[in-house]
Amino acid sequence: MGHSQMDPNAAIFQLSPDIFLLILKHLALHDKFLLSHTCKAFRHSTYHDWDSEISRLSSSDRVGFWAGLAYTLPDYWACPKCCKLHLINTSDVPATLYRQQLIPCQADISRGIGTEMYSIHHHHIQFALKLSRLCKHQQYLGALMKPYTDTRISLLNPLTDSYTAEPNIITKQFILREEWNISNDTSTTLPLFPENGTFHMPVCPHLGLTSSGLASSRMRKKWDAERLQLRHKMTELEELTLFKEMTLIEDGIAFAFRFPGNWIYNSCLRCPTDIGIIVSADERKVTVRAWHNFGVEGSPMGTNWRVHVADPSQAWATLGSYMDYTHRSVRTLWMEDISDETKSKAQTGILGRKLH
Ligand SMILES: [Zn+2]
Ligand SMILES: [Zn+2]
Repeated sequence: MGHSQMDPNAAIFQLSPDIFLLILKHLALHDKFLLSHTCKAFRHSTYHDWDSEISRLSSSDRVGFWAGLAYTLPDYWACPKCCKLHLINTSDVPATLYRQQLIPCQADISRGIGTEMYSIHHHHIQFALKLSRLCKHQQYLGALMKPYTDTRISLLNPLTDSYTAEPNIITKQFILREEWNISNDTSTTLPLFPENGTFHMPVCPHLGLTSSGLASSRMRKKWDAERLQLRHKMTELEELTLFKEMTLIEDGIAFAFRFPGNWIYNSCLRCPTDIGIIVSADERKVTVRAWHNFGVEGSPMGTNWRVHVADPSQAWATLGSYMDYTHRSVRTLWMEDISDETKSKAQTGILGRKLH
C-alpha cells in the first residue's frame, strides 16, 4: 500500500499500540519486512537492521525468509543454494533437457531420483501454486502444468515402455501423477520385466525398480538392507521389515500378476505417495501409477518438499525425512477432483479424463 492509497480509517490503524505490537511480535521476519515497506508509519514501527537480523537466522530460516518474500513476488523464486531470490525464467519447465543452463547458479532443486526427461523442481511447484492464485505469467503457468509423455521401444527386448507425468493443483496443493507402462506389442511371448533390460522406475526416493528385472531389483535392495542392518545394529526382524517396506513395488507387481485385470493399491510409508498397479487381463501390459502430494506453498527446506527428495548422504534407514499422512488420501484427492471435473464437463458436453 503506497502513501496515496493509505487509508487512515483502515482497521489496523484503529488498533491500540499494545495490540498492534502484540500482533507484530507474532509475525514472521519476512512479513515484518514486507509490512515495513508498505508505508512510513509501518516502516517506523517495524524498523530493523534487516541485514544483521537476517544474518542471525539459521540457514534453514534464512531460506524460509526468502521463500516468504517470494510468496508475494510473482517474478522471483527463492534459491536454497544462493540463499537469495532469482528472477523468473519462463523457459524453465519440468520437461527441459538442459535445465542447469537455465538456472543462474546451476542449483539442483530436483527430487534427485533420476527421473526421466521430466524433472519437477521445487521452484516449478512454487511458481505453479503462486501463479495459480495471481493473474500473472499465465502462459508460463500453462507450460508448468502441461502433461508430459515419453514413449520408447527397448533395443534389447522389443518391449514398449512409456512414462507420463501430469501435474494438478487441488485445494491449493500441488499433486503430481506419474505413470509407467510396459507392454509387449509383439506376437511372441516376452517377460515384461527382463533381467537384461535397461528399464528402471524411480517412483519416489523410497520406492521403485532399481533395475528392469524384479529379482535383480530385489537383490540390490537386499544388499542395501543388510548394509543398513550392520550400520544401525538392527535386529533381524527390523531388517526384514525394512526390506519389505523397500520392495512394495516389486511385491505389488508380483501380486498384480497373480490377479490380472485388478488394481493393486498401496502407499509409500515415508512420503505422501500413493501407488496403483495393474496387469492387463492378457498379461501383456503392466501399468504402475503414483500420486505424489507436494503440499501447499512453502520453503525448499520444509518437510512438504524435503520428504520427496533423495538425500545421497542419507541411506534409506537413517530415518531422515518422514511425513505422517493418511495413506491413499492423495489418490482420493485426485479422484475427487477428476470426478468433479468430469461432472462439470459432462454438463457442458465435454468428456473428462480417465477415472483413475
Ligand atoms: Zn541460486
Ligand atoms: Zn516415498
